[in-house]
Amino acid sequence: MPEGRFIVLEGLDGSGISTQTELLRTWCERQGIAVYVTKEPSEGPAGGIIKQALQHRLAGLSAESLALLFAADRHDHVTLDVLPALSSGHTVLCDRYYLSSFAYQLIEVPALPWPLNINSKCPRPDLTVYLDVPPETCLERMNSDVWRGSDKLQLYEELGLLKEIRSNFMGAIDTLKRAQQRVEIVGGSREIMTIHKDVQALVAGIVQAARQSTPANPQSSGSQQIAAILEGKSLTG
Ligand code: ADP
Repeated sequence: MPEGRFIVLEGLDGSGISTQTELLRTWCERQGIAVYVTKEPSEGPAGGIIKQALQHRLAGLSAESLALLFAADRHDHVTLDVLPALSSGHTVLCDRYYLSSFAYQLIEVPALPWPLNINSKCPRPDLTVYLDVPPETCLERMNSDVWRGSDKLQLYEELGLLKEIRSNFMGAIDTLKRAQQRVEIVGGSREIMTIHKDVQALVAGIVQAARQSTPANPQSSGSQQIAAILEGKSLTG
């Protein structure tokens, strides 16, 4: 059975990741593409601790420990969830992955090679889509009644912080691109279905290419890609 493709959606909170992931899921199902949708932090034990920490329900956890927990959660998530789904031919849609770690954890963990190092065994996505939405717009969306009524974590709601995270995302995207990772920036402040059409076209291209080529091996290529980054430039460089 051909291996599935690994697609990651990224962005600031409120950028529309959940909305676009669900639209993509429906599109895949209609196309007869076997699809598996997942997210980080995961439902695993480390993911549970992370969620408590992000909601300020855990005292005494340093920024470094939180970064390690994210990497541990990612390791379990990849091993137990993502790789089996890819092996069974599913296209995996993942709401956040290591790009988020690089952007969010850089606020408090400035030494960048280290976050890269602790994620060095993560498989490389076949495509990462970054939904680019101005922090001001994200804040407006987060302040809506729909958001307030949801179970979403409300963590980074300060404009200055969101601007810093967006800037970190841009630096991290640049570095991943220089390491030949496929990252596409999609304008996320447009109408929902217009954005979906763009994201859908990107995913369609990846899935079609997969049908015509040899199976990918995300686990080994991921390690190689991160290793290439570590040997080259830092995320900020
Ligand atoms: P995320 O998963 O990135 O945090 P959501 O997909 O939950 O974001 O979207 C946050 C809020 O913004 C939701 O209320 C959603 O309906 C709304 N939203 C998403 N995309 C758009 C868009 N393109 N234009 C306007 N509102 C949007």
